[in-house]
Amino acid sequence: MILTFNVGSSSIKVKLFSDTLQERQSFLKEQISSNHEEAFQEIFENLDMEKIEIVAHRVVHGGEFYHEATTINDEVKSNIESLIELAPLHNGANLLGISIAQKFFPNALHVAIFDTAFHNSIKSHAYLYALPYEMYENDKIRRYGFHGSSHQYVSKRAAELLHVKSGNFITCHLGNGASICAIKEMKSVDTSMGFTPLEGLMMGTRCGDIDPSIVFFLQKKYPDMDVENILNKKSGLLGVASNSDMRDLISEAYSGNELSAKAIEMFCYKIAKYIGAYFIALGRVDAIIFTGGIGENSALIREKVCAVIGEALHVELNDEMNSKNSTLISKESSQIKIMSIKTDEELEMATQALKKG
Ligand code: ADP
Repeated sequence: MILTFNVGSSSIKVKLFSDTLQERQSFLKEQISSNHEEAFQEIFENLDMEKIEIVAHRVVHGGEFYHEATTINDEVKSNIESLIELAPLHNGANLLGISIAQKFFPNALHVAIFDTAFHNSIKSHAYLYALPYEMYENDKIRRYGFHGSSHQYVSKRAAELLHVKSGNFITCHLGNGASICAIKEMKSVDTSMGFTPLEGLMMGTRCGDIDPSIVFFLQKKYPDMDVENILNKKSGLLGVASNSDMRDLISEAYSGNELSAKAIEMFCYKIAKYIGAYFIALGRVDAIIFTGGIGENSALIREKVCAVIGEALHVELNDEMNSKNSTLISKESSQIKIMSIKTDEELEMATQALKKG
């Protein structure tokens, strides 16, 4: 059996898979304030510990160290620790999860699956920022990208479904966090999240791309303002329309709330702009894929994005298939296929960990 661990700052998600990758059990604990160990204990009480041979741990930041799933040893743990500086909220919690799980499952193989690993194929012209080069050399300031397991999983599913061996895809992961990825011959060549998950698309509460001067302007004008917190937690959909939940925004917009409608237009336009840019990065695109809570479930958002890119990219949505959340949602005449694919980060983690076993 394989156990997947997704330990965040305030929640723990654990899934159990058989060695044929069938999902057997799933546990979610939200709002964990202090005692992670107790929360784990409660989850593990229901498990047959003897049978767990592999534990796959989601680790948000793998820096430049890791390009793939990696068996955890002391050196790997100390590298993850050294990256806490780059992902303070996440890597600390991930590391704690690893240490606790190692105590509970001392005989299992523990494997780290990094959110950044899939994006390690991005070349320097795309990952470097136009900053003094020493900032890259000394402080490792560069684009890393996140949501790697999701982008990788849905692109593999799309290749299977379309019977292509080595496809070019643009994958749009639209959940509370949102990022988009340009995939060439199954490898990430660019992605919208950067040094941190703050860059790129408009998200539930993150601002995505803004002019960096706005930060200095705000800091100068309001010295007591916690700008970092505002950009991460109080911006995005929440900032514009006072609600970060896309389902709520859509129903509010239908009832005539103008700010909700504006936030939805902004959200879709920004996705469309990135699709345009990534079309250029790829040259040829087999399919544009929508995933994540919004991408998988919202026909309206997919329709609005496709309306913006439609004319330039000769994309045509099949409205009926789109409204049913079918997998293939473009018309046959569409030059690029449009797909809606349910992501499964845990299954991707289990698949990668199993290869290490
Ligand atoms: P997370 O990034 O936290 O894993 P999810 O991938 O579950 O989040 O996505 C959550 C988002 O998906 C929320 O904004 C939610 O409103 C949205 N969502 C879920 N179902 C629908 C739907 N039917 N229509 C529009 N948005 C939806």
